[in-house]
Amino acid sequence: MHIGCHGLVWTSSFDRDGLEKAVTGTVSTGYDLLEIPLFDPFGFDLEAATAVLAEHPVTISASLGLSADADLLGDPEQVAAGRAKLVKAVDVVADLGGAYLVGVLYSQLAKYTAPVSTEARRRSVAALQEVADHASTRGLTLGLEVVNRYETNLFTTARGALAYIAEIDRPNVGVHLDTYHMNIEEPDMIQPILESADKLVYVHVGESHRGYLGTGTVDFDTFFKGLAFAGYDGPITFESFSSAVADPSITRMLAVWRDLWDDSADLAAHANGYIRNRLHAVETIRAH
Ligand code: MN
Repeated sequence: MHIGCHGLVWTSSFDRDGLEKAVTGTVSTGYDLLEIPLFDPFGFDLEAATAVLAEHPVTISASLGLSADADLLGDPEQVAAGRAKLVKAVDVVADLGGAYLVGVLYSQLAKYTAPVSTEARRRSVAALQEVADHASTRGLTLGLEVVNRYETNLFTTARGALAYIAEIDRPNVGVHLDTYHMNIEEPDMIQPILESADKLVYVHVGESHRGYLGTGTVDFDTFFKGLAFAGYDGPITFESFSSAVADPSITRMLAVWRDLWDDSADLAAHANGYIRNRLHAVETIRAH
């Protein structure tokens, strides 16, 4: 099991210097995986990243949310752009030795103002089947992140994601749960884990306000029990955003209107300990 840290805890720019900062920060605060935000896979400096990772080895994953011009729920031109972007993202992750591309891979990461149409859903399924088949040739798993109603209109619960993933029907496409979104949309913090256990491939841990773990309303004790009951052993990545680090293109997209931290290392070290303490506690349940 890898415990990871999202790159935006450390930097907004993933050039050589930014990546070095993210990798060294992630490793020095106790994590063993760095999740790289890959909103622009075509603009990503693969050569620089390869050099940084050769110098500072760490397991990586990548995440993204699609932009309006690459919306898989959009018109055929947008869908084609989205498919091309995802194929490129798969290649970047694979070239960096990563095994997971996750996030809002099925729609724009934005507030929609109407329900999704049957036709748009069908087109997005077809596009993701192609992306998944390509990902399979590169040894990658795709995690479709379940986000809240203000960030997609396709599905907002694990159950909804499972229905969509069944339509895609590819073994390397699974559910990516995030406690921040679960806390908004799900009935509790355990049912979605148990229901999606066979398809759960990736997990984000974030507080209800996306700040320090344990200072919001997310029921983490129940959540980690759920992971233990489900036998989950995939990546668990800490996610938190502040304009102290993230640039306006990110903070506006994610509606970060107030900052809950300005010390990346303190935040990250705290979250790493918080996650590992709970994992350690639930490991002992089998002896009860
Ligand atoms: Mn997330």
